[in-house]
Amino acid sequence: MSKIFEIYGSDAHKMTVSLMEAANVADMIPKGGSVALKPNLVVAGRPEEGGTTHAGVLSGCMEYLQSHGFSNISVIEGSWVGDDTGRAFRVAGYDKVCQKYGVPYYDLKRDKTRTVQTAIRPMDICCRALDADFLISLPVLKGHCQTTMTCALKNCKGCLPDREKRRFHSEGLHRPIAALASYLKPNLTIVDSICGDLNFEEGGTPVYTNRMYLGTDPVQLDAYGCMLMGISTSQVDYIGLAEQMGGGSTKIEDGDIIKLNEPVSGAEYPAPTGTVASLTKNVHDDSACSACYASLVRALYNAKRAGIKINKPIYIGQAYRGKTLDGIGIGACCSGATCSVKGCPPTAQEILKILKEQN
Ligand code: SF4
Repeated sequence: MSKIFEIYGSDAHKMTVSLMEAANVADMIPKGGSVALKPNLVVAGRPEEGGTTHAGVLSGCMEYLQSHGFSNISVIEGSWVGDDTGRAFRVAGYDKVCQKYGVPYYDLKRDKTRTVQTAIRPMDICCRALDADFLISLPVLKGHCQTTMTCALKNCKGCLPDREKRRFHSEGLHRPIAALASYLKPNLTIVDSICGDLNFEEGGTPVYTNRMYLGTDPVQLDAYGCMLMGISTSQVDYIGLAEQMGGGSTKIEDGDIIKLNEPVSGAEYPAPTGTVASLTKNVHDDSACSACYASLVRALYNAKRAGIKINKPIYIGQAYRGKTLDGIGIGACCSGATCSVKGCPPTAQEILKILKEQN
């Protein structure tokens, strides 16, 4: 069973290095092997907007790999159909990182492709993704207007030429995404869950979680992402299909999540957008950790979509420790509330369960 290493903080570079050290990634890579880093650069958007991988994740990977003697590193990506990958690299700050570490980057829209046989049909995949000795996927955990969520499995769609991406959409996305996982399996995935968007893959409504996690099974990582976002894996068809097609396992057992530290309060939230402000109008926050607050926002978002009305006050934050509260308490700090959600931080799924009961 794969382990998931998780860390909280706000410095993507340092968090990435710490995750890779904890998982001893250098021992997984063939000596002298080529390493390809595949971020999520779906559009030309700043990572702070919640749609693209932070540049610090790339620089953290490069620093770790180079300090462990790996010099054959590249960054590979192709933005979505209609956007320009080179512009997206500049907007996200990847060009400066690549220059600093002397790492080349390649636009997969210009790459050669090879046809491989997946679980459902032959598929064209970019050669640089297929031929890397060690492929590291760097997705963002975020919402998606068509597939509800997107993270590890769907990030591999960026390794396809535009004609194949278009075909995926005409096939309804879920089956081809799952089939791709049956063939193209990144050796490692490091998830940027620092401020993923609430509902759109291109970003615009970031929700600060200040969290990252690392694992080797993309199906398991997506199942965990669902828990964090407060949705069931059954709401994201491609996850179960990928499991059936041999892409990995959705099982997460006690002890599978190895936390390197605990969430901290005091991290600055971005100015809340209209959506987040309206979702949190009943919320009393005093010194909440960003991971806790993000779980609550995601749970409230899903509750609203499910038609659940919350009229009781909701309390969250370290300042409520040991206090008696008349309402719903979020996390261990608010266990003195009339009704409270356990966990530190609780997942959005755990919060949603209590919100449903209190409806
Ligand atoms: S329960 Fe308290 S300490 Fe734990 S994550 Fe939430 S606010 Fe932070």
